[in-house]
Amino acid sequence: MEHTYFLKAQELDAKDILSGFRSEFHIPKNENGEESIYLCGNSLGLMPKKTTVYINEELADWSKLGVEGHLHAKHPWMPYHEFLTENMAELVGALPKEVVVMNSLTVNLHLLMVSFYRPTKSRFKILLEYSPFPSDRYAVESQILFHGFDPKTALVELKPLSGTYEITTEQIAEYLKEEGDEIALILLGGVNYYTGQAYDIREITRMGHNAGCVVGFDLAHAAGNLYLSLHDDGPDFAAWCNYKYINSGPGALSGVFVHERHSKRFDMPRFSGWWGHDKNIRFKMENTFVPMEGAEGWQLSNPPILSMTPIRASLEIFSAAGIKNCRIKSVQMTSFLLEMFDHSAIKGFEIITPREPEKRGCQLSFRMIKPDKTLFNTLVKRNIIADWREPDVIRIAPVPLYNSFMDVYRFVKILSEEFNS
Ligand SMILES: *Cc1c(COP(=O)(O)O)cnc(C)c1O
Repeated sequence: MEHTYFLKAQELDAKDILSGFRSEFHIPKNENGEESIYLCGNSLGLMPKKTTVYINEELADWSKLGVEGHLHAKHPWMPYHEFLTENMAELVGALPKEVVVMNSLTVNLHLLMVSFYRPTKSRFKILLEYSPFPSDRYAVESQILFHGFDPKTALVELKPLSGTYEITTEQIAEYLKEEGDEIALILLGGVNYYTGQAYDIREITRMGHNAGCVVGFDLAHAAGNLYLSLHDDGPDFAAWCNYKYINSGPGALSGVFVHERHSKRFDMPRFSGWWGHDKNIRFKMENTFVPMEGAEGWQLSNPPILSMTPIRASLEIFSAAGIKNCRIKSVQMTSFLLEMFDHSAIKGFEIITPREPEKRGCQLSFRMIKPDKTLFNTLVKRNIIADWREPDVIRIAPVPLYNSFMDVYRFVKILSEEFNS
């Protein structure tokens, strides 16, 4: 049976139209020089080879041109963030004026909540998914306190039904029907970092708007992973980091989406800086802030070139591969993994990620029934790079741009050898 899956992995790799992209990335190796089975793109995406070239170009321009690089570098620094816009917009299904790259993710969540969380006496709550990424929770809690409300009543985490790990769209509908008029803001992950569940952005946005709520998404685990249509799905805002599925390096800058319907909402409160000021008159250095239309109007500072360069390199790869193709391969990979996992009858784990392809991205979360981190370490010894999330989950994310079906096959084979013997 194992041989059947070996042949199937070979066949799927042979048919894979994206297989050539693997060679555009550096694949980590163990001390014997063997390529690792890297399944951790949900945490830190691998480095594109051309990132080095692109960064060296900027360093060379800086050394040769000094301040003149703002206008005369090969990619002039002054409008540098604009070089990312078109590809980033395409990647998340947005209009160019709806996206901008700036700051880091938690910073952007705060800046967006300044504009989009406007609590009143009767409508002051923020709805989150159960057990959100801690940073999101801290940010939300502090925003609630900042407005003088009490997180105990204003922060609502929707729990999965008992015995399940999934928060269903029906459950959200139910909740909004009962309590929706107290919710100021719905802020969910596009894909939950722990369970790997993908939410129905369009339907949740529609229901949230019907209930009179503002709807935002943290797409840290969804951008570069799902095939997103942010403009058509219509959430008010979204933010994501670019170091997970977008392969732009540790701590990479974050992406922001503000829906077109808000692009001229200059009445909204916002924290301002000179890079959000109308760029045509920015250098008149006048005292009155004139915000730019669209997402760019939320910028504060001039673009950090050396941090933006890796994003430019990475987005070019996505543009060449096509996020739609990536998503198709991603579903094939997780389906292949699930099928082989089930057939191998691997003991000691349950997969808590929904089985339906539309309810998951690249990631599958393996919950260890008797949590024991030393067992995870046996996988590390077998040259698998994955991650362990307390208290009991191993997250596995085959990434379509650089993982092969053979990586998936090897992973399940090792799991079966280590846990079924
Ligand atoms: C990765 C991740 C973060 C990390 O935030 P930073 O500000 O980039 O450090 C925050 N929220 C979610 C949901 C994440 O997955």
